[in-house]
Amino acid sequence: RGRMANSKYEYVKQYELDDTLLPGCWIVVRIDGKGFTKFSDLHGFEKPNDKRALDLMDECAKEVMNEFPDVRLAYGESDEYSFVLGRDTNMYGRRASKIVSLLVSCFTATYVARWSAHLPDTPLRATPMFDGRAVCYPLDRHLRDYLAWRQADTHINNQYNTCFWALVKGGKSPAEAQAVLRGTQAAFKNELLFRDFGINYAHLPDQFKKGSVVIRQKALLEVKRREDGSPVLRERSVPTVMHADIIRDDFWEAHPQLLG
Ligand code: ATP
Ligand code: ATP
Ligand code: MG
Ligand code: MG
Ligand code: MG
Ligand code: MG
Ligand code: MG
Repeated sequence: RGRMANSKYEYVKQYELDDTLLPGCWIVVRIDGKGFTKFSDLHGFEKPNDKRALDLMDECAKEVMNEFPDVRLAYGESDEYSFVLGRDTNMYGRRASKIVSLLVSCFTATYVARWSAHLPDTPLRATPMFDGRAVCYPLDRHLRDYLAWRQADTHINNQYNTCFWALVKGGKSPAEAQAVLRGTQAAFKNELLFRDFGINYAHLPDQFKKGSVVIRQKALLEVKRREDGSPVLRERSVPTVMHADIIRDDFWEAHPQLLG
């Protein structure tokens, strides 16, 4: 080590610029699958929502939260996940590239490692990749609005995609299906689903309509076994997936530690 320190080469280190994220702000890292329109097609994902692929995403998010305690909450839909780090985190000195690259590689490595557990009949035929970015939000209101923005997006996309794929599976071409839906409101889409396809939007799984929220919850975990084989249980805080409404106040009132 010491021999190369202060060598004539070391000046190159100065070209590494500071990318510290603003102190005292919420940090949100959003990752998104690269080219998942094609990736989902290649692996025969069920349209509009392949539950197996969503469950795999959720498992990757839980692994990120197991590895990085500073991640307080995660929210996911489709091929994306957002990770929220506390205002006060000092993880890697709040260096953006360190934080983003570690969360992305943890997520991606888990995606590959756990693929066959979730899609046992589908060989992985391409390299899954995720991009990532970090954004700082100074106010609690900004963080709430950020998460509301993503969950509203989930709902709007799901409603559109449910109609689109019902039309396509019903024999329309993609262009025809698009034309039917262009400029239409939610009420029209719900009516179309019910009248023409017998689908009650309200009855679709919450995982599809609301996306996935991951927070830590107390649970009894087996930490070891006694000599007689009986389990020793301890209360532990474990990342837990739920499909809750995070736009309204109820969720935040029920989990005051998230913003505290
Ligand atoms: P980019 O690289 O710009 O993100 P993309 O093709 O990934 O391009 P997105 O806007 O991220 O574009 O869209 C994600 C795509 O992946 C959508 O087409 C969506 O339908 C598909 N997809 C993701 N998850 C699933 C799933 N669980 N089931 C079915 N389709 C999915
Ligand atoms: P940090 O998270 O700060 O990078 P680190 O433990 O990864 O911590 P590095 O300075 O990156 O620290 O050092 C990498 C370590 O991994 C060294 O201890 C090195 O000996 C070990 N290592 C990496 N690759 C190999 C290898 N192919 N064979 C044996 N040891 C290896
Ligand atoms: Mg190294
Ligand atoms: Mg994108
Ligand atoms: Mg994508
Ligand atoms: Mg996406
Ligand atoms: Mg290292």
